[in-house]
Amino acid sequence: MIRVGHGFDVHRFDDGDRPLRLGGVELPGQRGLAGHSDADVIAHAVADALLGGAGRGDIGELFPDSDPAWAGADSMALLARVVALVTGDGWVVANVDATVVAEAPKIAPHRAAIEQRLSAAVGAPVTVKGKRAEGMGALGRQEGIACWAVALLERP
Ligand SMILES: [Zn+2]
Repeated sequence: MIRVGHGFDVHRFDDGDRPLRLGGVELPGQRGLAGHSDADVIAHAVADALLGGAGRGDIGELFPDSDPAWAGADSMALLARVVALVTGDGWVVANVDATVVAEAPKIAPHRAAIEQRLSAAVGAPVTVKGKRAEGMGALGRQEGIACWAVALLERP
């Protein structure tokens, strides 16, 4: 049996001095994202893709932002919990592919590090592509960063 899962996430930029964390990698000197957890938009989209494929709901259900336990949470730790849940159900992750839409910063210089971190967390190849919004809409005005991800799951 094979299943596909899709995930989407978006976070606004934060006005404070939070670091920008994407796929578990901190990008130095960049404006961070606002959120209840560490606002790692790629980790969240990947987690939702895995949960969607496994029919396990979404991260908002598993880690509600009304729960103080998840305030400032390390999203890579949340992703690890999601992977444990999904693999515990007997699913094997084949791969995950994600597209990050950010007017800035450029993803390319950090792509290898982000892919490595995510692949290690998921236990399968995770690929990440960066796209600009060509100046259009809220993403184009650099109000935040969005990420889409698809995951393929197999149950032997
Ligand atoms: Zn999120």
